[in-house]
Amino acid sequence: ELQGSVTIVVLGASGDLAKKKTYPALFRLYRNGFLPKNTHIVGYARTKLSHADYLDRVTHYIKLNKDNAQAEQDLLDEFKQLLYYQAGSYDQDASYQALDAFIKSQLESTMAPGQRNRVFYMALPPSVFVPVARGLRRNAYATEGANRIVVEKPFGKDLESSNQLSKDLGQLFTEPEIYRIDHYLGKEMVKNVMTVRFSNVIFSHVWNRMYIDNVQVTFKEPFGTEGRGGYFDEFGIIRDVMQNHLLQVLSLIAMERPISTDAEAIRDEKVKVLKCIPPIDIQDSLLGQYVGDANGEGDKKLGYLEDPTLKNKSSLTPTFAALVLWIQNERWEGVPFILKAGKALDSAKVEVRIQFRNVAGNLYKSAARNELVIRVQPDEALYMKFNNKMPGLSYQTIQTDLDLTYENRYTDLAIPDAYESLLLDVLRNDHSNFVRDDELGAAWRIFTPLLHKIDQHDAAIKMTSYKYGSRGPDELDDFVRKYGYDRSNAHYDWPVQSVL
Ligand code: NAP
Ligand code: NAP
Repeated sequence: ELQGSVTIVVLGASGDLAKKKTYPALFRLYRNGFLPKNTHIVGYARTKLSHADYLDRVTHYIKLNKDNAQAEQDLLDEFKQLLYYQAGSYDQDASYQALDAFIKSQLESTMAPGQRNRVFYMALPPSVFVPVARGLRRNAYATEGANRIVVEKPFGKDLESSNQLSKDLGQLFTEPEIYRIDHYLGKEMVKNVMTVRFSNVIFSHVWNRMYIDNVQVTFKEPFGTEGRGGYFDEFGIIRDVMQNHLLQVLSLIAMERPISTDAEAIRDEKVKVLKCIPPIDIQDSLLGQYVGDANGEGDKKLGYLEDPTLKNKSSLTPTFAALVLWIQNERWEGVPFILKAGKALDSAKVEVRIQFRNVAGNLYKSAARNELVIRVQPDEALYMKFNNKMPGLSYQTIQTDLDLTYENRYTDLAIPDAYESLLLDVLRNDHSNFVRDDELGAAWRIFTPLLHKIDQHDAAIKMTSYKYGSRGPDELDDFVRKYGYDRSNAHYDWPVQSVL
């Protein structure tokens, strides 16, 4: 825990991330009593804003609990007292010196030396990460307290640019001072993966190639680029969610048991398992772009290549990808880990689906496979598809589930937003849910050769298409079947009406 005062400087406070995520998360921490005493929040950006405009902007997305409206409003008013704004440039030493002078004279003067801590939160486009970090290091670095710097993706575009960024940042701040956010690591069900795996004896002996046939990590978004195609085209779905978010989930599912719950112990295991994964083979990929649905409404009529902001009308940037990763170690050899992600699909969900092998012997040959599903969003749930005797006089085997749906099981429990959880970790100096620099390198190594082939329009890259609002390319079901995913005996009947 930080002792003394904490000044949180939000760089890029005029922007989108700051108002949608950073300030709402800071408010919730305040409301729940988790901001240390003597915390102040200083917004910094080039835009000149009056204090009132700044307050309006950064509190716009804060939601108050309607059941307790007056008390919540009072808390918000108190929170606003902690907020300051300072306009300045990103590349002038004088601007950061002014920031430093303001913090020293207005916010830290009553604090004892050694207790004047600063957290720099970079809510900025990556083009200015390094110049801003340099300006802060030179002119606003706390000499009488701890420094922490929080950075957001994208961390480079490939292995080389990521290494360069790590090197540049590493010359300015030490690794323990740097917090690289992958906000999936702040999501409740992602944080739960280690607990489920390592605190339940029923899983430890089956969590390997002997019992698990295949694993899928799926991300689905029901909307397309909708006028942001120009921006998206530089990245594509693989850089946007797979190399970072889905791979983080994979590493938690696949890593060995860490020697402790200490941040470095956990991150050591994640790096180790990533190092066992060879770069993705083109043969193990299925790429797609969405096309418009002539019968759809509004944006659904437009395919990716018809997005008016897209400059390159022959773009090969995937909006959908299914990629198979192989982990070459004793636990996982031969088990495909299928990462699937797409925009403009039939639903919004993120889930992990672990499919177990067929039951051996001939007693229940046609029983469906067990599947453990961890639904990350929406509506957190964990359920195991399971075979049961049909109740009554019949001996028929039916598929059912052991169901832990959070909203049914944990009524009255509020699940914090990922940013709230992660900012609290920063204040508590816990790096467990942040990306270490060697982890980043290990992750980019897996994806970079494939990404370069796509960027270069290599002849081996094949692009399929899929209709806006569909489950993905027609080839998808055969693709996952080829890697062993089997739903042949699945006759699943999920009761729409609760039986309780
Ligand atoms: P943004 O709104 O485009 O930019 C934040 C602020 O940076 C702007 O208000 C602007 O402030 C300044 N800025 C914008 N373009 C600039 C440029 N070319 N050169 C210098 N300054 C510039 O970005 P954001 O959406 O907040 O995202 C910030 C970071 O978080 C990015 O790395 C993004 O990838 C990441 N991120 C965002 C989200 C999200 O929900 N938005 C989610 C995950 C990650 P001034 O002009 O006032 O200086
Ligand atoms: P599901 O909808 O049966 O999907 C299972 C898997 O099969 C997914 O990987 C899906 O792929 C794939 N799939 C879907 N349709 C397919 C098709 N026509 N051909 C080939 N593959 C197909 O979902 P489930 O998770 O097994 O559960 C069944 C139902 O019970 C769902 O509605 C689920 O929400 C519900 N349920 C809910 C809870 C709960 O809320 N706690 C608990 C248990 C069950 P894609 O992901 O690519 O579409």
